[in-house]
Amino acid sequence: MVSVSCIAAIVDFLDKKLSSRTKINKKMKFIDETKSVQNPINHGPTLVIHGGAGVMIRKNYPLKEKREYLKALEESLIAGYKILLDGGSSIDAVEAAVRIMEDCPLFNAGKGSVFSISGKNELEASIMIGTPLHPAGANTLLRTVKNPITLAKTILLDPECRHVFLGGSEAEKYAKDKGLEIVDPGYFWTEKRWRQHMEGLERQKLTSDSPNSLLLKDEFDASPKGTVGAVAVDKYGIIASATSTGTEGPLYRFSLCSSAHYGGLNNKKDGRIGDTPLIGCGTWADNETCGVSGTGDGEFFIRFGIVQDVAARVKYLGENVADAAINAVEEMRKVGGEGGVIAVDKYGNVAMPYNSLGMYRGYIRVSDGIPHTFIFNDE
Ligand code: ASP
Repeated sequence: MVSVSCIAAIVDFLDKKLSSRTKINKKMKFIDETKSVQNPINHGPTLVIHGGAGVMIRKNYPLKEKREYLKALEESLIAGYKILLDGGSSIDAVEAAVRIMEDCPLFNAGKGSVFSISGKNELEASIMIGTPLHPAGANTLLRTVKNPITLAKTILLDPECRHVFLGGSEAEKYAKDKGLEIVDPGYFWTEKRWRQHMEGLERQKLTSDSPNSLLLKDEFDASPKGTVGAVAVDKYGIIASATSTGTEGPLYRFSLCSSAHYGGLNNKKDGRIGDTPLIGCGTWADNETCGVSGTGDGEFFIRFGIVQDVAARVKYLGENVADAAINAVEEMRKVGGEGGVIAVDKYGNVAMPYNSLGMYRGYIRVSDGIPHTFIFNDE
């Protein structure tokens, strides 16, 4: 963890690290401060998290499972909150919040990740700070790094690493050299995810044998297969965003009633890389607009640059963070993309919109320390 006294030094260091390689035109100024959020109330340090958006049906949803997820979300919020409460940095807060979810087998990140089509876990994550030069770290196709979010943060903070994005065995070697925790690939295995993997293969076979069979099949697993993410603003007004996933790809979709739902997310093609580790697609942070983390149909997040679109709406259209997030998610729905985003601006305004049936999500503010957690939309 980065100590509080080091924060200013880190920000200064990162600015130097990046500016030595970046030719900045000092005359460029994209933000008209007067068009930013009008008369903002400053809520102070705030953390918002998600544990995945997807197919969840309230009426079928077991109470026990609901309690387990809400408790896990609360633990994640409290971990990040403690850091913000102590005056810590947003990057430490989002890392702590995401690590809790990576270590919790309920979520599709770290332990409990879904399987690729050949039965492998391939993990990926990214992290970003919203200071002017946008420091970022990302990784993909990991099989042995226990906490991909910590690897992403290590890349971001590494003065010797000029790269943003490392993948595969070289990323794992780098993690090992940096002393990060390395595990056997079997560590990520859980029985529940394996069962989903096998069911996914079966469904896939059914789909290819008889493309309409899924339309009749409504007993799909209501567990989300979602990514986890966190966005925070600290007492310095610095925003950080983090996203981590077991990666997955929509092998097939099916219709339920009148709307299309994103389903059958297990069994991605081996080597598929999603939006989660892609800066601007799954993770974005910019102090002057907002920080955003996404979850849902990754191919749409990639093709439409959804999380950066939220910040662009704030920046160029002058929308507030809530409207920007809602509008970006709605635009994605119109083109067929399903999922949601979480976002925070520098005043601690929070947005958590989604267009799927549910999204595990929550927020907490240092001002009152009360964790707010949600799954469906009328809680
Ligand atoms: N966006 C993730 C991916 O496509 C999945 C998710 O968020 O559920 O890899």
